[in-house]
Amino acid sequence: MSIGTKVPYVNVAAQHSPIRDKLLAAVGNVIDHGQFILGAEVGEFERCFAELCGVHYAIGVNSGTDALILALRVLGIGLGDEVITVANSFVASASCIALVGARPVFVDVREDLNIDPALIETAITSHTRAIIPVHLTGRPADMDSILEIAQANDLYVIEDCSQAVGAEYKGRCIGSFGTLGCFSMHPLKTLNACGDGGTITTKDSELCEKLKVLRNVGHVSRDEVVVWSGNSRLDTLQASILLAKLEYLGEWTKKRRTNARFYQQRLADLQTVQVPIEKPHEKAVYHTFVIQVDRREDLRDYLADMGIRTAIHYPLPIHLQKAAEALGYKPGELPVTERQAERVLSLPVYPELETHQLEYVAGNIRSFYEHG
Ligand SMILES: *Cc1c(COP(=O)(O)O)cnc(C)c1O
Repeated sequence: MSIGTKVPYVNVAAQHSPIRDKLLAAVGNVIDHGQFILGAEVGEFERCFAELCGVHYAIGVNSGTDALILALRVLGIGLGDEVITVANSFVASASCIALVGARPVFVDVREDLNIDPALIETAITSHTRAIIPVHLTGRPADMDSILEIAQANDLYVIEDCSQAVGAEYKGRCIGSFGTLGCFSMHPLKTLNACGDGGTITTKDSELCEKLKVLRNVGHVSRDEVVVWSGNSRLDTLQASILLAKLEYLGEWTKKRRTNARFYQQRLADLQTVQVPIEKPHEKAVYHTFVIQVDRREDLRDYLADMGIRTAIHYPLPIHLQKAAEALGYKPGELPVTERQAERVLSLPVYPELETHQLEYVAGNIRSFYEHG
């Protein structure tokens, strides 16, 4: 039985339609001036983004994946090195490590889906150079504990902020804690380009200058190349769109948080549904709203039959992917990650959802567990 889609999982068109004229004006302006590569809008976006995150510098790049790769490269991490991260993230959190020639080392997570600091220390060896905590779902990782361990063991911290623009830990924006912060502006992220995009944040002017060289095929000037590198520039067209959208980000985040609160309240008393609850020192931005449930597949099918689209982030943890085979991980080595992979379900939480849609989603989850 299909009753058509009543609540899509995402709705980018609904985000764009009220600001269509502004976006077209921004794009039109770039087409008129013609500085498509590293035009003024890139620098302007970098200034605004750095300010938003409370850091001195932001460097626009072409994706969140390249942001992570360049972050590792600029810190000189490569062959023979180990980098600690999680296996419940999007694959780029780990593939960046392998791509620079280093070894990804996975640590299990807590109930909040973020890295468990208590398990980091046993994963550290003489080869460990860095920790990449992921602020998964838009919820900040436990930065105090992570920074303390990093400091004690002389490790870099590279924050994977791809899902968490504007999230805060103890009143401070994520992306301002580690040596570097890496963001994605993919169309499905909360600050999204109309195509690929990414940004790196840092307080270190030397790293900023080096990153600008690395993203630009190793150029320090038009004709001088100091290092082999690739092309990881943020397009001026995408920067112009991101600049236009920055104005609305606060409003959108507020709406996501209101939607999250609706689900939290409406589902609070269900024993079978674990909803994410922020700690007092956390401000989450809900890139995804992930519940953990029994009978996940049945619930997902039931909701689909009711016209409600959901998603699973992510069904197969990175350490069990074919790409990770040579690392030698076996099922059972990351018990919390593996159990959560069978229980997580992402509900629609985008800002344009209407109250009756939220009620429809929550109501159907309730009826599934109350009557099913
Ligand atoms: C989206 C994402 C990335 C990669 O970003 P792209 O812009 O798609 O390359 C990396 N890490 C996490 C946690 C992500 O969600």
